[in-house]
Formats: sequence, structure tokens, C-alpha cells
Amino acid sequence: MKKYALVIHGGAVTMKPDELSPAEEAAQRKGLAEALQAGWEILHRGGPALDAVEAVVRTLEDNEHFNAGRGSGLTQQGEVKMDAAIMDGRTLNAGAVSAVSYVQHPISLARAVMEHSPHVCLAELGALELALEKGLAVKPPSYFLTEKTRQQWLEIVQKEEAMAMHDTVGAVALDQDGNLAVATSTGGIEGQLKGRVGDSPIIGGGTYASNDSCAVSCTGDGEVIMRGALAHEVHALVKHKGLPLAQACQAAIALRDDELKGDKGMIAIDHHGNIALEFNTNLMRRAYRVGTGEPVVAMWKDE
Ligand code: ASP
Repeated sequence: MKKYALVIHGGAVTMKPDELSPAEEAAQRKGLAEALQAGWEILHRGGPALDAVEAVVRTLEDNEHFNAGRGSGLTQQGEVKMDAAIMDGRTLNAGAVSAVSYVQHPISLARAVMEHSPHVCLAELGALELALEKGLAVKPPSYFLTEKTRQQWLEIVQKEEAMAMHDTVGAVALDQDGNLAVATSTGGIEGQLKGRVGDSPIIGGGTYASNDSCAVSCTGDGEVIMRGALAHEVHALVKHKGLPLAQACQAAIALRDDELKGDKGMIAIDHHGNIALEFNTNLMRRAYRVGTGEPVVAMWKDE
């Protein structure tokens, strides 16, 4: 059997351990394990990396414990506006959506943009129209809202000093045919301005895959990640400088650190099946499985 591997994340943030309840932490670990399994099964039976990363992200979009799809953070106006992107390392084809509401699985809509439109990125109503045209599932606003996101939003609008949380989900995979793919999806930063677009749907910003180097999905402060074009930075360091994957990720996170301060995390995989999970925060929800090895799920830095 040929090499295959899958790495996933559920967001990198800086938070005190007591800010995450044991019940919430357990739910997130369970969610990571389930999403990993959904993607791994596809790779294990010889399916494409593209299907595996989409399956992982759809699973996390359905899980209200992650900031993507159901459970997305709310904008300043209290709305859900989601970003997502998918990229095929074999062809460099890519699809993305930004600031979409109602769509249950923004990642599948990003895939529809890639496969059924002449464009790479569609926003808002244009994206929604494609979702309706292709028969993708849509849900009312109440589906996306959770007690947690409503409370966090209330805190943000009531207190000036309230911490705006941000999170994202993502997956990178190598399949048995040697192809790489990436998928990233997010509700963005809580309390973000209407119309804000983060790094996740920016090809080369938070999402990039190329069979001749690696696949990368980022999480953290989107404004910083996109200014550093960090996903493409990792690709360039691997491809042009020959850096090993983990070193390339570390260098990308450290890139112009004075100007690009902020939370930065990323998962990556290369065409040899090497994997990397790097972050400068104390928490990155993450999981991976290499071939038939044991699945690994982790949250805190020192795990
Ligand atoms: N990068 C995402 C954004 O800025 C948020 C995150 O990854 O936590 O929209």
C-alpha cells in the first residue's frame, strides 16, 4: 500500500487553560477524532485527497464546537458570515467563498466554485446563488447560532475590552496516488466588521496546495497571515529553498515577526508524507494519522 496521511486543525488561539471548560475541551477532542476518521477512511480505501479534506471540513462545519459552519462566530451585527477555500495540489485548481450565510457546508460550495464556475472566489449573494443552483444544503440563521456564540457576541458588543475569539478548521492530505489537497473553513473573528474577509479563502494566504511541494492550511489572526501570504511562503520555502516541512512552517510563522505580530498556526503535509503542525499560540486543536498508524489528537502546546 502506498503512503497516505491526513492532518487536521480546529483553530489556534492564545487562551488560559481555565477559559476552556473540561466539557468543551472533551467535545472538541471528540470532534477532532471524528473528523479525522471521516477523512482517513477515504484515504485508506484509496480515495482522493480532495475528497478527504472536504469530508473532514464538512464534519467540523456540522460540529457546533468549532468556528466554521454551525457554531461560527458572529459579526458585529450578530450575523454569521463564513469563508472557505479548497485547493487541488495536482492541478492548482482552487475554489473559495467569502462572507457567505445560510450555506451548511461552505467548503462544498468552495468546491462547487472550483468545479462549476470559471472563477476562483465568489462572495455573498453570488456564492449563495451558486449553492442554490447546485442544490447544496442551506439552513436558516437559527441553525448556525449556538448559546456559546451568542454569549461571546454579547460580551464583545457590551464590553470594550472583551477578547475577540477567532478560530478556523482545516485539513491537508496526501492520498495513495501521491496527490495533495487542502481545505480551510471559518466563521472568522468574532465581532468582525460586516464584509470582512479573512485569510482562509485567500489562495496563498491561509490555504495553498501544490503537488511539487506541500499543502498548507493556516489559522490565527487572518490579517497577519494574509499580509505574510504564509501558506504560499511555506510552499516557496519548501520548493525553492528545499527546507524540510516543519522548518519551513516555523520560518513562515517567524516571518517579519515585528510587523506580523499575532496568533499564527498551520498544518502542512508534503509529497513524501512528512507532516508539520506548528503554532505560536498555547493552543491549537489538531489531529493527524499517518497511514495505518495510531490517530493522534492534541490541543495544548505541551502535548
Ligand atoms: N484565520 C481566521 C480568520 O482570520 C481565524 C482563525 O483562524 O482563527 O478569519
